[in-house]
Amino acid sequence: MNKYINVAIDGPAGAGKSTIAKAAAKELGFIYVDTGALYRTVALSAQKMGFLDTLTSESKQDLEKLFASSKVELRHIDGVQAVLLNGEDVSSLIRTPEISMGASNVSAIPAVRAFLLDLQRDIAKTNCVIMDGRDIATVVLPNADVKIFLFASPECRAERRFKELIEKGESVMYEDVLADVNQRDWQDSHREIAPLKPSEESIMLDTSELNLQESIDAVINIIKEKI
Ligand code: C5P
Repeated sequence: MNKYINVAIDGPAGAGKSTIAKAAAKELGFIYVDTGALYRTVALSAQKMGFLDTLTSESKQDLEKLFASSKVELRHIDGVQAVLLNGEDVSSLIRTPEISMGASNVSAIPAVRAFLLDLQRDIAKTNCVIMDGRDIATVVLPNADVKIFLFASPECRAERRFKELIEKGESVMYEDVLADVNQRDWQDSHREIAPLKPSEESIMLDTSELNLQESIDAVINIIKEKI
């Protein structure tokens, strides 16, 4: 039995997973692990190598090159996660709409998922974690102590993502963000490997009508009840 408590939070893009999981982890003294950042970093690496747009499961040589020259690491400094690509902190570089879509594309490639699996499991073996992603309860940590599936309507998620991007100074249109959310939902839930879906044991939490603090409290209550 793992003596470290593992909490899996899955759900679609923009459901509030990262903000909520981060706050809950802080409150409980757990490490927050954002697994989307790992897929984003692989996408960034493929972009740097010039083949992000063409990468598929069949691109054997490009995939080999990609894995051989992408050292992906996670660091936690004062509870804040940083993701490193070949030693460089790329935590901000991976937050662009292009990398969001690129991450969704590369994450459908089984070899990419296999490349990132041990990294995710190793952290959970040696730390109390709240890990967020799409397949944490179903694939990465099937024995997690708590499994939560966070969701909200596509419009509500697009609105939140739109505000975030505007606050960061990006010039985006709400309609484009909504189209991205819908496309990523479709891709993430229809891929053959590790599709986005709740596990049988996942507790479903709809955040559409909850504000941030209410969502955080709801997640913390679920975790406290289970552990
Ligand atoms: O969570 P975030 O939006 O940063 O994730 C970016 C993309 O990475 C998602 O759209 C999804 O395709 C992929 N992803 C995944 N499995 C995870 C986390 C993210 O496939 N555990």
